[in-house]
Amino acid sequence: MKRLILLTAGLGVLLVAWGSPALAASPDWNAIDQEALPYFRSYLRFDTSNPPDNSAPAIAYLKSILDKKGIETATFESKPGAVSLVARLPGPSDKKPFLLLSHVDVVPVVAKDWSHQPFSGDLADGYVWGRGAIDNKAHGIMALMTLLTLHRNHIPLRRGVVMMVNPDEEAGGANGAEWMAANHWDAFDPAFAVNEGGVGTPDPFGGWAKVFQVTVAEKRVSWLHLVARGRSGHGSVPTGDNPTLILIDALARLLATQPDPRLTPLMAQALATMATHESFPVKVELGHLDSPSMLGIAMRGPLKPDYLQALLRDTIAPTMLSGSLKVNVIPSTAEAGLDCRLLPGTDVEAFLRRMKTLLADKRITIDFIQKPDSGPISPSTGEAWDAIEKVVAQDFPNSFVVPWMSSGGTDSRFLREKGVPAYGFVPIVLDVRERERVHGVDERLSVENLNHGIKATYDLTTILCARP
Ligand SMILES: [Zn+2]
Repeated sequence: MKRLILLTAGLGVLLVAWGSPALAASPDWNAIDQEALPYFRSYLRFDTSNPPDNSAPAIAYLKSILDKKGIETATFESKPGAVSLVARLPGPSDKKPFLLLSHVDVVPVVAKDWSHQPFSGDLADGYVWGRGAIDNKAHGIMALMTLLTLHRNHIPLRRGVVMMVNPDEEAGGANGAEWMAANHWDAFDPAFAVNEGGVGTPDPFGGWAKVFQVTVAEKRVSWLHLVARGRSGHGSVPTGDNPTLILIDALARLLATQPDPRLTPLMAQALATMATHESFPVKVELGHLDSPSMLGIAMRGPLKPDYLQALLRDTIAPTMLSGSLKVNVIPSTAEAGLDCRLLPGTDVEAFLRRMKTLLADKRITIDFIQKPDSGPISPSTGEAWDAIEKVVAQDFPNSFVVPWMSSGGTDSRFLREKGVPAYGFVPIVLDVRERERVHGVDERLSVENLNHGIKATYDLTTILCARP
């Protein structure tokens, strides 16, 4: 092994000495695409549904490909079956590496609703079908092909490249990225990272260009558990202190009004940039959101879709309700789960006080299941951001980049909490209908998108890491 590393390093030196950038700069994309497709289809065939999050065989598969090619790998097991993979192309020791982050687990499926079996990796109509095709196995394959191509072509690096694939993202990351950040930070310790969270999309406001909404922040996950206490009894004798009734009344008060809209500086910047690509009236509405009445007007107009509304206010979604186990029994407690998502900058204590005021019932207790994080927003300036803008300009004609916020949570928050800039940027282009398949039925990715994404991921990595 040592000899191989020395030999590789020697060849790298030779390539530099002979100054053969033409050789280094032109990978054989046809060959790479042909190699990647079976890897992708095989990776999709591992059922990594979470729960139960048995990701070990899929991780072993990726590791075996890297090991065979002589790339340094390590695995870390947080609990039986939950394994993280770290692969590395080392760079100079005085520079932290660039991290390509992805997750191996997927959300469960209802297989009978799918037109192709969700763990078949079927290739049909120009698409690869399967749960995880978009979220998030394709990005893992893009990272894999980037490492293989850099290694195979002996590209000299001025910054190391690390690929990390984690389990447990779909369940919050406590046994995946969060655990790695807490226990094995030194194994990856990056300068910056790209992860899932943002893709290219046709302009949602009708403009001519495609927009890459690169996520630099996300709504902060704040899960709450409510318990109403009352008096149990027989269902045939209704009483006013039935906890189910107490809970329903209180929730109705709470949910009658969502928190007020708030335009964060991040969304103000993103929407103002997008406005410059629009025509009247969207151009005016999005271009003047700083004037007091315009936000309300825009929220009834171009910003009306639910997914945009969610980026302009703290949200409260009731998702779980439970009471008696039997229809003729009044229980002593009734419970609810609320999925709340807070904007950057929202004061958590003030948010909770508002909820308690609206619930207005001492018989109800409210506690966090998960408290919101407080990581900083990643900068939309600097080396990594500039490289993303450059690769979009180079690889995706008629496209532009805006910093964006994701309404959902990703593993990026564990990096941002450590002060590492993390960007949601998967270089593929999806329209709304394709995006809706994520976590839904018939998730798929076109072979064209896969190939384009591999090249753009490689290009991004060489901009950031290859010696000029
Ligand atoms: Zn995901």
